[in-house]
Amino acid sequence: MARTRIVIIGGGFGGVQCARTLRRALRRNDAEIILFNRENHLVFSPLLADAVGSSLNLQDVIVPLRQLLPGVICRTEDVLHVDLDARQIEFEGPDGALRRLPYDHVVLACGNISNLNVVPGMADHAFPLKTVGDAAVLRTQVLQQLERAEVCEDPEKRKWLCSFVVVGGGYSGVESAGEINDLVRGSLHFYPHIRPDDVTVTLIHSRDQLLPEISPPLREFARQKMQEAGVTMRLNSRVQLATGDGVGTDRGFVRGGTIVCTIGSTTAPIVERLAAPKEKGRLATAPDLRLRGRADAWAVGDCASILNAHDGQPSPPTGQFAERQGRQCAENIVRVLRGEATRPFSFRVLGQLCSIGGHSAVAEMFGLRLSGFLAWFVWRGVYLFKLPTWGRRIQVGADWAWLLLFPRDLAHLRTDTTERVTHAHFEPGDFIMKQGDPPTNFYVIERGEVEILRATLDRPEGEVIATLGPGSFFGEQALINNQPRSASVRARTPLDVVVMGRNVFTTISKSLAPLRAALTAAITRRAGTFWQERPQALAALRSFHLADCIEPAPQPLLRPTDTLRAVTRHFAASEENLYYVVDASDRLAGLVTLTDVIRVQANGAPPDTPVTEFMAAQPIAVLADDTAVVAASAFREHGFKTLPVIADRESRRVVGTIRARRLIARLLDTLPPTGPVA
Ligand SMILES: Cc1cc2nc3c(=O)[nH]c(=O)nc-3n(C[C@H](O)[C@H](O)[C@H](O)COP(=O)(O)OP(=O)(O)OC[C@H]3O[C@@H](n4cnc5c(N)ncnc54)[C@H](O)[C@@H]3O)c2cc1C
Repeated sequence: MARTRIVIIGGGFGGVQCARTLRRALRRNDAEIILFNRENHLVFSPLLADAVGSSLNLQDVIVPLRQLLPGVICRTEDVLHVDLDARQIEFEGPDGALRRLPYDHVVLACGNISNLNVVPGMADHAFPLKTVGDAAVLRTQVLQQLERAEVCEDPEKRKWLCSFVVVGGGYSGVESAGEINDLVRGSLHFYPHIRPDDVTVTLIHSRDQLLPEISPPLREFARQKMQEAGVTMRLNSRVQLATGDGVGTDRGFVRGGTIVCTIGSTTAPIVERLAAPKEKGRLATAPDLRLRGRADAWAVGDCASILNAHDGQPSPPTGQFAERQGRQCAENIVRVLRGEATRPFSFRVLGQLCSIGGHSAVAEMFGLRLSGFLAWFVWRGVYLFKLPTWGRRIQVGADWAWLLLFPRDLAHLRTDTTERVTHAHFEPGDFIMKQGDPPTNFYVIERGEVEILRATLDRPEGEVIATLGPGSFFGEQALINNQPRSASVRARTPLDVVVMGRNVFTTISKSLAPLRAALTAAITRRAGTFWQERPQALAALRSFHLADCIEPAPQPLLRPTDTLRAVTRHFAASEENLYYVVDASDRLAGLVTLTDVIRVQANGAPPDTPVTEFMAAQPIAVLADDTAVVAASAFREHGFKTLPVIADRESRRVVGTIRARRLIARLLDTLPPTGPVA
């Protein structure tokens, strides 16, 4: 008789428990159990924060699946799709070809994935904590910040480097905040230049209580203990955005050089693609853990929506529930194979455990409430006994004892992987770089505008000398000349930029001729000495208001629905060289020149082509209250002859136009007879 093939997708708490229970219950001749997992190990997620805080070695929080599951075929492969009708799974073989594997029963235990996109800017600026890789990167970040702070001469910047913000007051947020606080404060005697009051660890939570899963007295104990240890609590605060400087909440901005985000999770891609009923993105299950409407497909753990028959409540996404569901799913599969009736999932919670740092934990077990060191000891003991073999338990236990007696290890591996091109988001007013900073990155603006500020002896607060918009770049001078930044750059509007690390920039700018040419031209144009060499021109530009040079905007203001035919007629009937395009809210949306019109017509565009297809979208604009220096720099930077003038950044309402020739004429009027011209 053919062996029954049971395929399990996911080697987390749910999948492992399912595989183990099946293996024990079914003879090898009767059933083949295959477990697919992306990694070759199980991750003890509740211990990840300890690895971040160096109170555990990274190796101690993972267990190889092969050693954990004798008799189970473990495959380290990513399953791409489950065809529920054909009863097959699809995965990519080592040669890149798509493979199919038929099954008799399939168990989906693929957990969920973190999704930092729930808050604008979080994906760009925060560290997640879901995988061992995340823990390693975060640990390195914390230790690197201490190293940077130790040698930082600016007291304000040192404080910023030593400020850690953890978002989310569930298990992972509380554990991470506790461990980072312990690591940083407990290591200060090795960093003589960092003072205790330079350090802040802030835990931000949207509700009025931490740890919603445990009882109120223990929650209160956890809060008090963490505050005593130095963690600042920001309860009832909802995080709304993240920037390179910290996080914005509905109760104000919290500065932080390191942001850890433990909120936000989303469905694993394989679940997303599955044609099966879902509830809030999780797989909807029948009471016995089968996918609704299916006889041979099951789901357990964080990827499934499962009602607990014990109390009629939905199961929470915790390791304890995932394990118990994995076990019961296996028992139900065995019942089906034996022709017996399945049982609904029913589980009475055994207890709750959460480490809060400082060798302290809170625990509720079998009706008992424990807190402090004893609870912490129980917490660690529980995980120790989940390890697969005695050899491993002794090894990990010895590691823990060592780390309990001796200071934490402050060495960090340089996890800087090959530099990549990344994206970053900034809010208005955020500094992307400051004058005097060392050269690190090169930026290209995708959306929004920045202003360039230069501080001089006579203007130490800095003067806005230019603005840049979409498509422009900055940061090249300092990188190429290997000098500190000669100006600060601040976001004027919400800003999205592409960020290139130093090495990537060097490689690309060397090998890409057009970029090299654009950089050379920009460096000449933007030479820091340009205005210094023309002090009279600068003084003259400062001596009058830009408002004196503003002229009415070319009329009419075009609408996005205006066609090529209509735009051509406007040009034909006037002397204008350009028109502005405004949207339904009268915001400046684009700019179209006579050259644009000639170009699209030469390309054979139909007369009803809307202007949005050939205008320059989101053009750079100056504000009515900008200085004449800003306008002059914008003309130099972009080579334009005309610039739109807007009332303010929020409304972007067009209030006029400014022509380079008018500005030059005004400048000439102001200059002494022999003065140089910008
Ligand atoms: C930092 C942190 C701390 C936590 N602390 C606690 C705690 O103290 N107590 C508690 O009860 N819970 C805690 N949890 C929650 C707990 O870890 C999860 O509820 C539990 O891990 C869910 O188990 P699971 O089997 O459903 O999924 P997971 O453990 O997430 O495992 C899913 C596995 O499936 C694999 N996978 C996904 N898709 C595929 C695919 N297509 N092909 C192959 N493999 C795939 C993944 O690689 C992963 O290994 C914590 C979680 C985190 C992140």
